[in-house]
Amino acid sequence: MDPVLPLETLAFGCRLNSAEAETMAALAAAGGLHDALIVNTCAVTSEAEAQARQAIRRAARENPGRPIIVTGCAATLAPAAWAALPGVARVLGNSNKLLAMSWGATGNPPPAVTQGRARAFLEVQQGCDHHCTFCVIRIARGASRSWAVDEVVGATRQAVARGQREVILTGVDLASWRDGAHGLAALARNCLAVPGLDRLRLSSLDPAAVTPELLALWAGEARLAPFLHLSVQHGAALILKRMRRRHSPMAVLELAAAARQGRSDMAVGADLIAGFPTEDEAHHAASMALVETLRPAALHVFPFSRRPGTPAFLLPALPPALVRARAASLRAAGKRHAEAAAAARVGQREVAIFDAPKLATTAQGLRLRLTAGTAPRGSMQTVRVTGVDGALLLAEAEHGVA
Ligand code: SF4
Repeated sequence: MDPVLPLETLAFGCRLNSAEAETMAALAAAGGLHDALIVNTCAVTSEAEAQARQAIRRAARENPGRPIIVTGCAATLAPAAWAALPGVARVLGNSNKLLAMSWGATGNPPPAVTQGRARAFLEVQQGCDHHCTFCVIRIARGASRSWAVDEVVGATRQAVARGQREVILTGVDLASWRDGAHGLAALARNCLAVPGLDRLRLSSLDPAAVTPELLALWAGEARLAPFLHLSVQHGAALILKRMRRRHSPMAVLELAAAARQGRSDMAVGADLIAGFPTEDEAHHAASMALVETLRPAALHVFPFSRRPGTPAFLLPALPPALVRARAASLRAAGKRHAEAAAAARVGQREVAIFDAPKLATTAQGLRLRLTAGTAPRGSMQTVRVTGVDGALLLAEAEHGVA
């Protein structure tokens, strides 16, 4: 007789999907489902979809008869196509996947959060009200909605009680979080008021929605991680217009400068799309130039991916080889700046959170490896940076666990 396999999840794409996968697993177990695979799909790129299809086919081959439940953005946009894959017993769209009744359980869950990790990724906002022309997420996840401040503070308390030293607020369009008159800065302040929370981090933000209040909070609150990650998308004003983004390249640079002025250890990160339709050499050069001025400690580059149902899908696509080449040149620039940001930390002290005996994340979000000794998983430790390995910091424990 085949052994009963445990309930497993596979999450593709964003941190939101990881947190949701953990919540779905808890709901499924509460509803009595034990031997199944839950696949939380992503639709941001065709590549992400291909990876999920591949994983489903492999799972069906390796464990025939084991139910596979497919959820997430790609499954929401094309349920029949995912239902037709081998081994798929059920497809659950985004609007139903976090409902207790969808899993035969009772009592709807609190905000989705990653519980088993050293740092807690906490979903505080869902959906989006903007209409970026390349984006399929707003179609897959619906209108913007926010968890109430009390629910988020409650989930933050639970994370602290579990021993998680850092909470990362995340969402599809985090900067649009709202609860009545309260915006993201107020939410962050409320979370920081939770006793025992060592560090709060904000995930990617729309540059057009970063408020002076938020910048002031960063300037005055050391426990708010000094990392501003901006969903910039492009360095050319005309392409940003065609993407229907709400900021200019200059506004991004001014925002980064203001954040750095308010907080001397502020690191900046950015998302960029390479090869958007109609992008010419001059537009691409503008993105490269923006990277040089922004000096990001982390740069995520996405080759443009045509998504059915989006306005950009109707525009003439650039040759794939050109898209790849432009993405590669942006990534090379990003690598250079990430390494420079790491090199600038040599000789510095860092308070890092360990997600493995030798691996940790610093306040700026840089990755770090201990060259000697180990630290308990989930612990926070003061270390001294002694060198770098590319963009990875090398460090020694300074003294006992913080
Ligand atoms: S802000 Fe734009 S890119 Fe982001 S989820 Fe909304 S529509 Fe998509």
